[in-house]
Amino acid sequence: MEYADRITRVEPSATLAISALASELEAEGADVVDLSVGEPDAPTPENVVEAGKDAMDAGHTGYTTSAGIPELREAIAEKLQADGLEHGPENVIVTPGAKQSLYEVTQTLIDDGDEVVLLDPAWVSYEAMVKLAGGSLVRVDLSPYDFALEPALPDLENVITDETDLAIVNSPANPTGAVYTDAALAGVRDLAVEHDVTVVADEIYGEITYDVEPTSLGSLSGMADRTVTVNGFSKAYSMTGWRLGYYAGPEELIAQSGKLHSHSVSCATNFVQHAGIEALQNTDEAVEEMVRTFEERRDLLLDLFADAGVDVPKPGGAFYLMLPVDSPDTEWCEGALEDAHVATVPGSAFGAPGYARLSYAASEERLREGIERLDDAGYL
Ligand code: PMP
Ligand code: GLU
Repeated sequence: MEYADRITRVEPSATLAISALASELEAEGADVVDLSVGEPDAPTPENVVEAGKDAMDAGHTGYTTSAGIPELREAIAEKLQADGLEHGPENVIVTPGAKQSLYEVTQTLIDDGDEVVLLDPAWVSYEAMVKLAGGSLVRVDLSPYDFALEPALPDLENVITDETDLAIVNSPANPTGAVYTDAALAGVRDLAVEHDVTVVADEIYGEITYDVEPTSLGSLSGMADRTVTVNGFSKAYSMTGWRLGYYAGPEELIAQSGKLHSHSVSCATNFVQHAGIEALQNTDEAVEEMVRTFEERRDLLLDLFADAGVDVPKPGGAFYLMLPVDSPDTEWCEGALEDAHVATVPGSAFGAPGYARLSYAASEERLREGIERLDDAGYL
């Protein structure tokens, strides 16, 4: 068979590949401390599960309106308004996972040869999605600044020009856990306005921050008409396998991308959308509890690394941490998995060679065990 150029341009998802490798080892009987995939370890809140079951029992098993059921889009619009965005339900499309949102948005906004700016380290799938759409990547490296965006604004200023078509900003960020300051986001806004750039704001970790309240980029003045806000239920409500996400933007964008949505997935799963309403409206305590737990684990890891004499940048949100490693990171991660049975993702997959990404969505006991094993096997 002959394959399309667009598909041969990309590699499989490194995060999903490593976690599959860890699962394979486990299936062979190995005890793997899996710090690879970005998936909360708490179960989906019980009331959300019940809402999904109730919806199924009530017969919500057919197609829905392509953009999503009105009650869910209304609930999403309320959440976005609380974040300072002026969106109504007509500005929202509900998708099977935020990944599908990003796919639809990139396909809708990027033409062959369009210039797209990424802030490195960046989540693995952005690069793939830009390439699938035919765009060309321009990358700004935040690694020299401990992953903070504010001190990197002069670098960003050098790459955002009138030639730039799109920028993707992810705060709190995967894989670094960085939460960008208001001054940093204002800097992005100034450049986007000056050079007429559209911005995708991926805020899927927005509920998971420790020391700061994150700002929604689209809420800054001048950003309403040029921002597409992406979010989802996987992380905040521990709903990865339900596949539920959404994006919101100007109505013209929704009309254009809605065509792709209707011709590809048709709609997100009906009863899952009903569970999504419950997740948005009745999970405050469960989310708070989960975030508190993540914060404790972050602090534990920082202490353990400090004890081992390793200096790691302190993440302000999400549930990831970047560990500086000595040898080439891909070899380091392969070795750590084989020798210590600890699964992590090489920084290179995110445009950050010299680091391994650790997801601390694992119990304190497993985190201690993982770090001890890495230390004992000479990886720290
Ligand atoms: N954006 C970021 C930054 C992510 O880490 C993920 C995790 N998979 C997604 C989007 C997509 O999440 P999902 O498709 O599970 O909603
Ligand atoms: N986003 C998560 C991660 O980075 C889940 C896997 C994926 O979709 O990439 O591990």
